[in-house]
Amino acid sequence: MALEKQVYMFHEGNARMRSILGDKGSYLAEMTNLGLPVPRGFTISSQVCVAYFHDPNYINKIKTQIENALKELEKETNKTYGDNHNPLLLSVRSGASVSMPGMMDTVLNVGLNDHNLNILIKNTNNERFALDTYRRFIQMYSDIVMGIDKELFDDIVSEVKKKNKKNNGNNLHNPESEKELNNGLTSEMLKEIIDCYKKLYKEILGEEFPQDPKIQLYKCIEAVFNSFNRPRTKYFRQLHKISDDIGTAVNIQEMVFGNFNTNSMTGVAVSRDPITGENKITGEYLIEAQGEDVLNGITTPKKLEIMKKEIPNIYKELSNYIKKLENHFKNPQEIEFTVQDGKFYLLQTRATNCSAIADLKITLDMLDEKMISKEEAILRIDPNKISQLLFKSIDRSEKCDIIAKGIPASPGAVSGRIVFNSEDAERNAKAGKKVILVTSELRTDDFHGLIAAEGMLSLRGGKTSHVAVVARGLGKPLVCGVEDLTIDFENKILSYKSKKFYENNLITIDGSLGLIVAGNCNLVEPESNSDLAKLLVMTEELPTIKIRANADTPQMALEALKYGAAGIGLCRTEHFFSSALILELMRARSYEERKKILEKIKPIQKENFKKIFEIMNGLPVVIRLFDPPISKYLPDISLVRSDLAILKNRLKNGEPVRKQLKETEELLNLIQGQLEANPDLGLRGCRIDIKWPEINQTICYALFEAASEVIQEGKTVRPEILIPLVSFVSELKTLKESICSIANKISKKNGVTLPFKVGNIIETPRCALNADEFAQLSDFFSFGTNDLTQMTLGFSRDDTEGKFLTKYLEWGIIKNNPFETIDEEGPGKLILMATEKARTVKPNIELGISGEHGGNPESIDFFYKNGLDYSSCSPYRIPAARIAAAQSYIRNKKK
Ligand code: PEP
Ligand code: MG
Repeated sequence: MALEKQVYMFHEGNARMRSILGDKGSYLAEMTNLGLPVPRGFTISSQVCVAYFHDPNYINKIKTQIENALKELEKETNKTYGDNHNPLLLSVRSGASVSMPGMMDTVLNVGLNDHNLNILIKNTNNERFALDTYRRFIQMYSDIVMGIDKELFDDIVSEVKKKNKKNNGNNLHNPESEKELNNGLTSEMLKEIIDCYKKLYKEILGEEFPQDPKIQLYKCIEAVFNSFNRPRTKYFRQLHKISDDIGTAVNIQEMVFGNFNTNSMTGVAVSRDPITGENKITGEYLIEAQGEDVLNGITTPKKLEIMKKEIPNIYKELSNYIKKLENHFKNPQEIEFTVQDGKFYLLQTRATNCSAIADLKITLDMLDEKMISKEEAILRIDPNKISQLLFKSIDRSEKCDIIAKGIPASPGAVSGRIVFNSEDAERNAKAGKKVILVTSELRTDDFHGLIAAEGMLSLRGGKTSHVAVVARGLGKPLVCGVEDLTIDFENKILSYKSKKFYENNLITIDGSLGLIVAGNCNLVEPESNSDLAKLLVMTEELPTIKIRANADTPQMALEALKYGAAGIGLCRTEHFFSSALILELMRARSYEERKKILEKIKPIQKENFKKIFEIMNGLPVVIRLFDPPISKYLPDISLVRSDLAILKNRLKNGEPVRKQLKETEELLNLIQGQLEANPDLGLRGCRIDIKWPEINQTICYALFEAASEVIQEGKTVRPEILIPLVSFVSELKTLKESICSIANKISKKNGVTLPFKVGNIIETPRCALNADEFAQLSDFFSFGTNDLTQMTLGFSRDDTEGKFLTKYLEWGIIKNNPFETIDEEGPGKLILMATEKARTVKPNIELGISGEHGGNPESIDFFYKNGLDYSSCSPYRIPAARIAAAQSYIRNKKK
């Protein structure tokens, strides 16, 4: 049976074939069909990669398809691969269906060998170019295909450069040095470098550098496939929730040479500014260089503004193509281009990864330009990125010690201690330290360091380099291209002129302004973003799940309103209860004694509730009774034991510590009496409120008195009292009666009608399973998805993440962190069942979410689809949650 078609010439594909041709391949095909100047080539489908992982011999099965495509490419280019007269050189590039910038590999200049090198020299009459190309190929092949450390090759280049400098001094009459070549390498130096490279290759691998172009090609294809499974790529997929099953396509393309001569260049351009969103082409380029030089951030490239002035004809061509692509895809485009001896080529286009500010501005601009509809505009915004808009920046009104200025590559400002490598960044971050990763280059190998660090500073690289793209996606501040600084890696010193900064010294970086400042400095909250406000207004019209805030204080209530909360979905009351107060309560011997102690905090509680009601002015406010485990308030027993041992010793030595000793013994007894093996399953929630009713009575008196006073001020209040952690209907009944009787008393005393609801939080599976019975008594339910997840999965919410969850995610045992994204098969099913049961009893019962999932876009979608009324989250997550809710409505309406 003939094998399925797995290899496509560019002209056979299109942008809709992304799942098999990858994003790069499908867009190369689309550009080819649009008649744009794309170097010719073909794509091996990503399905081959998937098949190759199951059976490495699979490549041989599709060899005929590859060879046929290669023949067609030879025909199209009028060159022959491996030929002695007019050799075709290739680039072998990765490209999965979901873009993973810089994570996978590419090999350029494939097909060169000692023999072809001489032909290339003869054909081009450009020895230096041909030698430079061969040098690059040996280095890339050795690194990417054979795994030889790239730095060893860099060391050879440095050595040869150093030696040459010594021999030539500043000989201005040497024609080569006069020319001031882009990478400072003359033909003689390149010959020496190539010799050393080959020797190094043989020394390490025990074999000669491969001279057979076919062997080179197939090895490169396999290397590109394998790069899909290298640790950094896997980590990236895990972080961005990209499936491990997509594989990567391989694009094989005729080489065009940006390193051909000084009339050649390579670069990256974006159709709109990816940082600010301004409708202006931005980008960078390097004369006499190859693509990787710009992308890997090794050299600081020139800005396109310089090209506009110095090479206007090329700039004009570039702007025409990029705008054409933007209009075609209706998305800001990021292109890679090469100019060979004045001829322009497009090597890639993709939707660019912008900062959150830019995403918003571009989307709203495109809406104004009528390129996209309102709904498309809402769908385009990534809610996970919105919190970036709430990032801080350096307070410019305060004096600060600016060390240097670089390229602002990813917005936000942070202070942290200097570390000089990714490993140190990870180690320190694990120990809870805030660090800034300082490097000389933007290498994608530092991805894990970037994740661990608060932000990153690189001496070289531009804002289109891969690491910068990744940093923007992660929302980590990044400043790069700060050439005034130097690093002594051996002694771990960052220097600016005579100023020195050592490992662990504190610095601040601002990735929006490109500033590096010595020490800590004042960071200011972001100004309100008018584009975000506009987008949020657009979402208001849509009938979707409401977003409330988890807010415990008046300050948080103000924040919640600022971000457009539809009320408070959870006001936790435990912050009034300090460890000292709980100990006092535990020591008390009677109901009356405890009541007296609680009276001390009642006025503070009342004031707090009053202010919250005033701020929320008529919006619902869910107030929960005391919930956390009592034992979590107790002092550390081991410290108390050690205090006791010390005191006993001091007493033995005749010191007058008898009273202290007695108190400590009493404390130890008290702790031992309250200590629990599983606090989260112990004395907490409604169990405390039933055992010590005076605790919840105090809260209820405070809140109803506050409510009646606010009503008397002429305002509306809508308190909803939430009973935590119920498992039995009788628990709800007992507490509801107590709450209602307090409300009645205050209502009568103050002569006001108190509008209020009493409901319960669904956190235990037993409660979810019997939601219909609870619904008969409850006015509303709130799903406490943190505890519901803990109890359904049997995963301790305090320990799981640190102990095994990261490994579970890494090993693919579970796809998502169930404490972040609702586990639809676990607590998700209970929520669905409880919703259905509750609505059979009370069709209009109000149902909300109050766990951390309430701010998670994927979970919000699940809650919306299943008919919940609101989702509640911390105030700063509200804008993102509102956008996610709007998107759920639009997406589901379309279905
Ligand atoms: C919950 O369990 O989801 C909840 C909201 O309560 P807490 O996080 O306070 O336990
Ligand atoms: Mg809970």
